[in-house]
Amino acid sequence: MLRVGVNGYGTIGKRVADAVAAQPDMGLVGVTKASPDYGVEAATRRGYDLYAAVDDRANDFAAAGVDLVGTLGDLLGAVDVIVDCAPSGVGERNASVYEAHDTPAVFQGGEDASVAEASFNARGAFEAARGAETVRVVSCNTTALSRLLAPLDETYGIEKARVTLVRRGGDPSETDRGPINDIVPDPATVPSHHGPDVNEVLPDVTVDTAALRAPVTGMHTHSVNVTLETEPDSNEVRDLLAGESRIFLVPAAAGIDGAGALKEYAADAGRPRGDLWENCVWEESVSVAGRDLYLFQNVHQEADVVPENVDAIRAMATDVDAAESIERTNETLGVGLDSRLGDGELTQAELTADD
Ligand code: NAD
Repeated sequence: MLRVGVNGYGTIGKRVADAVAAQPDMGLVGVTKASPDYGVEAATRRGYDLYAAVDDRANDFAAAGVDLVGTLGDLLGAVDVIVDCAPSGVGERNASVYEAHDTPAVFQGGEDASVAEASFNARGAFEAARGAETVRVVSCNTTALSRLLAPLDETYGIEKARVTLVRRGGDPSETDRGPINDIVPDPATVPSHHGPDVNEVLPDVTVDTAALRAPVTGMHTHSVNVTLETEPDSNEVRDLLAGESRIFLVPAAAGIDGAGALKEYAADAGRPRGDLWENCVWEESVSVAGRDLYLFQNVHQEADVVPENVDAIRAMATDVDAAESIERTNETLGVGLDSRLGDGELTQAELTADD
């Protein structure tokens, strides 16, 4: 049984904590909080032991009537792996603390690749993390691009991928983020950091990315164009992507027209917090012109890296192989949406005729 701690109980940390707690081969020792705010309630309702992320703030918890088991140092002494889910940049500052306690650490995609020995995506680079003391799970966008480009490269070969990322302005809880009435090139220079980050896990794939920020909180949207080395058939591409366990091919017949409906679909399916752990590829967007493939995919930024964190822990600290780890994680969390609405044009045509 692997003993795991989570340092930083925010958007990603609370989801990673639940995912770790659901694994039969892992035990969640506890989570840290930086302040005694509403997140404390979520953790204590779930029975998670609480630790102070910052030593000299422990008194704030006592003043708020919140019982702590200890501080970050105590947690680090009690775990086999710590998962850092602190805000971007804070993870890098925490790295020396983990090293001082000789505690292997998983970092998140807000940190530079140099924070860890290996960048990780279960589909693209599982073995890179094998036995490493420090691993970085790449960002939500990079995770989604790696999951998409890895099977395309294996099957057809990628000559060049070009991706425009329309990024959510902030997460739903981030009331101070924006824009609120604009679409902002971010960065205005091309390429954005996402392409080079994909190359941290898929070094041989040529990919250019451009990014904008939009006034939405639900999901990112990627407009993808991949020039393949061999000519694909659009139905075969759909089958290929449908066969990927962390890609959900959104059926044309489902009437799901955007992130709002996707999130509602996930909530109706009973997903915790309405989370979508899978890339959501719009089935009818998959189009082919010669060797050029086009598609749209949506990415739930709060959720897609969560199963990857679980697999990263196994890759670092066990000898379980990629396929077995991915299957275990998928099964325990329930990753893999399987729409009851059939596949594609025939069903869609029938529905249209019934209208
Ligand atoms: P967040 O702000 O929601 O959560 C961070 C938590 O860490 C907060 O609860 C904060 O109070 C706490 N914290 C503050 N200082 C701390 C410290 N010194 N030690 C420990 N905890 C501290 O941030 P997030 O969105 O969960 O992002 C965490 C990491 O995950 C970042 O690297 C981010 O880039 C990455 N990430 C975020 C998303 C996303 O869309 N939210 C997606 C993928 C990856």
